[in-house]
Amino acid sequence: MPSPAAPPPEKMLFQLSLRRRGISDQAVLRTLEAVPRDQFVEPEYRDGAWRDTALPIACGQTISQPFVVAYMTEQLELRPRDRVLEIGTGSGYHTAILSRLAADVLSVERFKTLADRARRRLADLGCRNVEVMFGDGFDLPETSGTFDRILVTAAVPELPQRLLDQLDPGGVLIAPVGPAHGRQTLVRLRRTAQGDERKVLGDVRFVPALRGTAREL
Ligand code: SAH
Repeated sequence: MPSPAAPPPEKMLFQLSLRRRGISDQAVLRTLEAVPRDQFVEPEYRDGAWRDTALPIACGQTISQPFVVAYMTEQLELRPRDRVLEIGTGSGYHTAILSRLAADVLSVERFKTLADRARRRLADLGCRNVEVMFGDGFDLPETSGTFDRILVTAAVPELPQRLLDQLDPGGVLIAPVGPAHGRQTLVRLRRTAQGDERKVLGDVRFVPALRGTAREL
């Protein structure tokens, strides 16, 4: 009888580098191993998809570095019943990870091309608890409701009040805060019965969040 296949070496190295950098949540580690990152990168970058680096995607945007995806996910402390809002779908890679750890994900992207591609990839992977919306994530219709967890994957100059209004009691919001070309820090806001607690988690580098939807040629 054939023995079960060992994970390919690039996946083993990938896991090792995440653990070495301090990711310890087993559910997060398992999910990063399970979601095929090679299907979210452009074909010419597929060989390097399991390396711990950000890569260019269409529309001048980037797929985030796996360590940053893992770290943000760990800090979100997702529970299986959570309703999650993600602003900045990009490739849909982080969306796929969220969808495996939470009940429902609404992900919003301001480039129609990216939203359409991510929607198709996520459907192909069988992520049925995800809705990808083309639009401005900071200007959602009232009917979108409120969320247990909010993840922003593009840098904002400050936390928008509109987003804070959409966070449920007990909720957690994570966003890179800072200017497009200056120092950005990853901020976690936790809504407790005693008020909102903010913690700066560290320096990061993200593409800027822009208002409105993108005009594409
Ligand atoms: N997590 C994604 C990272 C995408 S980069 C991945 O791993 O692929 C950030 C994304 O945020 C870009 O695609 C950008 O177009 C999008 N974005 C920026 N401002 C936005 C806004 N106001 N509403 C929705 N998406 C926005």
